[in-house]
Amino acid sequence: MGSAAGGPRATTPGQQLRALFYVLPPGESSFRTLEEVPDYVEKSIPFFIAFIVLEFAVSWVQKHKLSGRINDGISSLSLGILSRLPDVLFRSVDLISYIYVWNNYRLFELPWDSPWTWYLTFLGVDFAYYWFHRISHEVNILWAAHQVHHSSEDYNLFTALRQSVLQKYTSWMFNLPMALFIPPSVFAVHLQFNLLYQFWIHTEVITNIGPLEWILNTPSHHRVHHGRNPYCIDKNYGGTLIIWDRIFGTFEAEDAKVVYGLTHPVNSFEPILLQLRPLAHIWNTFWATPGFCNKLSVLFKGPGWGPGKPRLGLPEEIPVVTGKEVPFNPRVPAYLNCYAVVHFAVIMELYIDLLATVTVLSQGTILLRICFIILSLTSFGFLMENRPKAGILEIIRCSVFLGVYKLGYLRNQLTLLDCAYEVLFSFCIAFWGIQVMKRITSSKDKHV
Ligand SMILES: [Zn+2]
Ligand SMILES: [Zn+2]
Repeated sequence: MGSAAGGPRATTPGQQLRALFYVLPPGESSFRTLEEVPDYVEKSIPFFIAFIVLEFAVSWVQKHKLSGRINDGISSLSLGILSRLPDVLFRSVDLISYIYVWNNYRLFELPWDSPWTWYLTFLGVDFAYYWFHRISHEVNILWAAHQVHHSSEDYNLFTALRQSVLQKYTSWMFNLPMALFIPPSVFAVHLQFNLLYQFWIHTEVITNIGPLEWILNTPSHHRVHHGRNPYCIDKNYGGTLIIWDRIFGTFEAEDAKVVYGLTHPVNSFEPILLQLRPLAHIWNTFWATPGFCNKLSVLFKGPGWGPGKPRLGLPEEIPVVTGKEVPFNPRVPAYLNCYAVVHFAVIMELYIDLLATVTVLSQGTILLRICFIILSLTSFGFLMENRPKAGILEIIRCSVFLGVYKLGYLRNQLTLLDCAYEVLFSFCIAFWGIQVMKRITSSKDKHV
């Protein structure tokens, strides 16, 4: 079953599927060394796509409406890709810091192959996640990273993949106590399972799952967590288990219709802007707030805090929700939606190819591919917002693609697509060239 000695172990599709629901028992997911631990998250990409398609179908059957929008879905997937790009270049901070503490400060070693170690790590990782997640909502500077996950005004499986680039640089410290006695190979499995479990709960097509609602984090509980209704704020932080919220007093059952998203929506589909705008807001508030202690409070108290207010702000200042809120949804022609889907699929394919070939590529090629992916995702954001500069950005992007593709830096393994890509991108440059010329001519006519 295993691959070559020393490398990650192979997993079957059945195991991969069960990993998404945290049902791979210790016998199937315990490894002696960190190197043997499979990359369950990367291998889940086809399952993510399959479940998103399934959710669309079920939603259509249940409510005769689709479970998501193209603009919001592309934005969520873009943020998901962006959040994983640093891992292409470096081992994750979670693991680096964990291994450092394990190597230098461990007190004793629990056996890697004992089911007790497995179950203890399951609880430990979930407990650490609860506190990381709670503090990410209650401390402004951490919220600036975590809010990316809450920035969608839809709630579906796309939303699950909407992740922050910066969050992993704030989450690592919560896991370190486990590094004093739990082997990294066991921790690395549960870190992935805890993340993967949270995929399926981002859906409206499952109402509730009966008695399991008492102990597990479920779609119903997590819908509350994503709500901006006053009753939903700062509730249901659990990852896999909901018992932590019940124990520490942050549990709230789903009640009135949940309106999703941030209390003050960012109103953008641009991935970089969605990552950085809250940081800019904190920066401005920091300098505008008088007094050293107050400035520190801007960083370390809740996002709703202000001088003279309690640590987490005043509940009455949370905007009232009527249920008639309209999500940010700039109108774009249907052909533009098709265009964005096709080009996003190309980038998705390049991204998957990058993950598969990263060990044989030079650092320069990897960096070039990452820059091209970021440029593309930004351009899709411009397109989905129907911005005037979208055409020019697309001309630049398509020209860069053709240039570096011809030189072999973006070439993927599927050579059959080579010719199709060249035709597609050449056509797109011509198309956007005509669009930009038309826009320039019509604005000149207006001035005349
Ligand atoms: Zn959250
Ligand atoms: Zn979520």
